[in-house]
Amino acid sequence: MSTKTKRYFLPESEIPTQWYNIQADMVNKPMPMLHPATHQPLKAEDLFPIFAEELCRQELNTIDPWIHIPEPVRDKYKYYRSTPLVRAYGLEQALDTPAHIYFKNESVSPVGSHKLNSALAQAYYCKEQGITNVTTETGAGQWGAALSYAAKVFGLEAAVYQVKISYEQKPYRRSIMQAYGAQVTPSPSMSTRAGKDVLTVDPNNQGSLGTAISEAIELAMTTPNCRYVLGSVLNHVALHQTVIGLEAEKQMEMAGEYPDMVIACFGGGSNFGGVAFPFMRHKIKDGKNTRFIAAEPASCPKLTRGVFQYDFGDLSGLTPLLPMYTLGHNFMPANIHAGGLRYHGAGMIISQLLRDGLMEAVDIKQSESFKAGLLFAKSEGIIPAPESCHAIAATINEALRCKEAGEEKVILFNLSGHGLIDMSAYDQFLAGSLQDFEVTDEDVARNIATLEKII
Ligand SMILES: *Cc1c(COP(=O)(O)O)cnc(C)c1O
Repeated sequence: MSTKTKRYFLPESEIPTQWYNIQADMVNKPMPMLHPATHQPLKAEDLFPIFAEELCRQELNTIDPWIHIPEPVRDKYKYYRSTPLVRAYGLEQALDTPAHIYFKNESVSPVGSHKLNSALAQAYYCKEQGITNVTTETGAGQWGAALSYAAKVFGLEAAVYQVKISYEQKPYRRSIMQAYGAQVTPSPSMSTRAGKDVLTVDPNNQGSLGTAISEAIELAMTTPNCRYVLGSVLNHVALHQTVIGLEAEKQMEMAGEYPDMVIACFGGGSNFGGVAFPFMRHKIKDGKNTRFIAAEPASCPKLTRGVFQYDFGDLSGLTPLLPMYTLGHNFMPANIHAGGLRYHGAGMIISQLLRDGLMEAVDIKQSESFKAGLLFAKSEGIIPAPESCHAIAATINEALRCKEAGEEKVILFNLSGHGLIDMSAYDQFLAGSLQDFEVTDEDVARNIATLEKII
């Protein structure tokens, strides 16, 4: 670790009062979401049975670049925001790179990840509308933990479907959800049609995010006064996450620098969008040539190997049709430890930005991600979440390129969470028993071919 240290915080008054809605500034707007049966573009009202109304309006808002953060939400943000922006001198030294590396530390939230930024907002809007119950899915448990906390804060009941393999292999996040008072069910379960369908065909099914989403949506649609909430992928989730980038913009200014590259790991796109969009507005509007790099797992490579088309967000096809880069909604990702990155599709905004060449994507193998995570732990003192390790690996690759070229570039990456509840994964890596899984173009083509041509 380095003896030099620099951390930047904002005073409470500088915590953002508005989220940034990049849809308003995009030259090519995302293509519309379509109704799954009629294939007509969706209106906000079509989504009201599933999500809180204000969230539906935010989802489809392509007009207003700035959305007011309700005061009760901003008050809860103050429990852990601003999060620190840190100059990673230790990592720079370890790499012997001329690059300046900064990270935004979202792991300091009470639940250990960025997910709380949206969970608080979504729980608030549900409460405001008089909704009493919220339901959702969770993989490794970060989103479930964030929602459970937010539901407790705003006085809602939370029911969480947790992917069965995580429920069994990662009991501590389940305990965290239960500690906040949430009801946690392993998915697939016999409590929904969607879960029963899967278990009938395969009684030993270990679950997936796609199945858990189907179960949660089904519960929301069949329970009075209950709504579904989602932790990633959708536009309104990325919107709430822009507090990350808006704070980072001010903190980079305090450091007297501007990023040449902004990097984040990629599951559905919320922490990437959160840190990237506020900086991307200067690329769109002022011609800044910052590079934006999403780091996804080689085992679930929707941005680098996926196909852009309309697809469902869940396994059963209950969601609207989304225009996105996808591996196919029936894709069953390998059981990597970065559970938050095991999703078949990419958010609609990000899919459009990638098509338009405003951002890039790289894929990272599991072993490479943990190797990067350990170097970060040793040089910066923080054990990163397995998801965040992907962003660190991509950052290291770029910093080493700077070293080769002798370039003093400024890199900002988002540390989306800590890995203190993921130590069994680190154990496996240290014991040399961690496997790499790679998906090839042929695998993707084969899977996409099994889908009915949707549009
Ligand atoms: C959920 C999660 C992710 C991936 O989700 P995105 O929506 O792509 O950000 C990344 N890191 C952590 C720590 C997570 O919990």
